[in-house]
Amino acid sequence: MAVAQEFLLQECKNLRDLLNKTLRYKYESADSRIFYGECSARLASLEKAIGNAADLAALGQEVIYLNELANLICRLERSSISEHSWPFVHELKRIASAICTEDTLAGANTPNQIYVLADGGLDTYRIHPESRRPAYTQKRLLTIVFPKSLKHFVLLHSILGHELGHAIWRCSKHKREMRDQVEKHIKEGVFASPDATATHIYSSVAPLNEKGFLKACPASMKQGNLFPNYANWEAWCEEILCDLVGLVIFGPSFVASECELLTSMNPSMTGFGPGHPPTAWRLNYLLDGAKILGYDARPPDAHPLRADIDTFWAHLETFRSTDPWYSVFTGNQLQRALSGMKTLLSRYPPTEYLVPTFDRLQHLVPMLKRQIPPVGFGIANDGSRTRENVDFRHILFSGWITKTSQPAMPVDIINKLCEQAIMQQIAINIAESA
Ligand SMILES: [Zn+2]
Repeated sequence: MAVAQEFLLQECKNLRDLLNKTLRYKYESADSRIFYGECSARLASLEKAIGNAADLAALGQEVIYLNELANLICRLERSSISEHSWPFVHELKRIASAICTEDTLAGANTPNQIYVLADGGLDTYRIHPESRRPAYTQKRLLTIVFPKSLKHFVLLHSILGHELGHAIWRCSKHKREMRDQVEKHIKEGVFASPDATATHIYSSVAPLNEKGFLKACPASMKQGNLFPNYANWEAWCEEILCDLVGLVIFGPSFVASECELLTSMNPSMTGFGPGHPPTAWRLNYLLDGAKILGYDARPPDAHPLRADIDTFWAHLETFRSTDPWYSVFTGNQLQRALSGMKTLLSRYPPTEYLVPTFDRLQHLVPMLKRQIPPVGFGIANDGSRTRENVDFRHILFSGWITKTSQPAMPVDIINKLCEQAIMQQIAINIAESA
């Protein structure tokens, strides 16, 4: 016991050195003070607990927390501001701090602290929600990861709405409402139970390519043992909930980013993963959900943006799988689940996506086409300057509309202009509120 205790106390010292080194990097304002204070206090509480551990079992428990803390500090170290699109992250944090709050030592509604780091490739988008923390915790420190190569691709970053879903699902104060108002509507029909989902997957009317996918799986995998031996049904349900969160937070940009990202990772759109339901199911219910929420509203025929908005939605429809096997929720089910989700998210502004007016889009899209960052600024006919608060999600939507209607315009340019617009809009909002 003494040897292990001594070793772990040394590891606490090592971690303190590591934590001190994280202060070399640039983070968003005040962020370094918050995580340094939080991690220092956790480390002090762990050091005390290790020193006072009564037996090996108690010591073993502290080792788990110590490892979690080491991993957390390493992730925080990489959340240096130069590594990611900070204007996008700034807006993402405004949403996260409004809705991701928890009962901790610091108070009943303490906002989670979000850190974002860039790493890996296309499949990197994820969240580390800190499921195990030592007793001393003032704040939950969430780290969100996105692909390093896509640093400026803010249009695709709308996918982080899904990751926020995982964070919201883990907020103790939202879990019950998510269960009662959203999840229960999902857990009907094809998702009434693991058996019902397995029955649908092994259905005789499943498309041939899906039957081929099952044939290529291990021979030991059967309808009766698919869940839980080869796939986690509750994890699938959580993924679906998080997709609905992403839809209600980011609107059309979320659907567009899921269509692009999921199909680039799984071009055949066939099959499923142990923790994720079939890609084609996901895209179908997102396309249906966008309609139910009225995100696909069109301006009158004569409106200058009518053709562009038609093109955007027609493009997304090309990602729909038309075989009825792929539509796993009824319209009524989705309607109820999305209505529950909106009721929850709308209480925490600016979390919920609000549909822009066509005039707003008509201000933004032409700017982008002229390679000007699309922001709430203009010069009126009399020469006076106009400033408006434009939601960053409307800037992203204008980016997606431009991307589909102007295929000749380079995608990286559209993304950079939108990223600059989000940054300039932050400055406009500060000027407006001064
Ligand atoms: Zn997920």
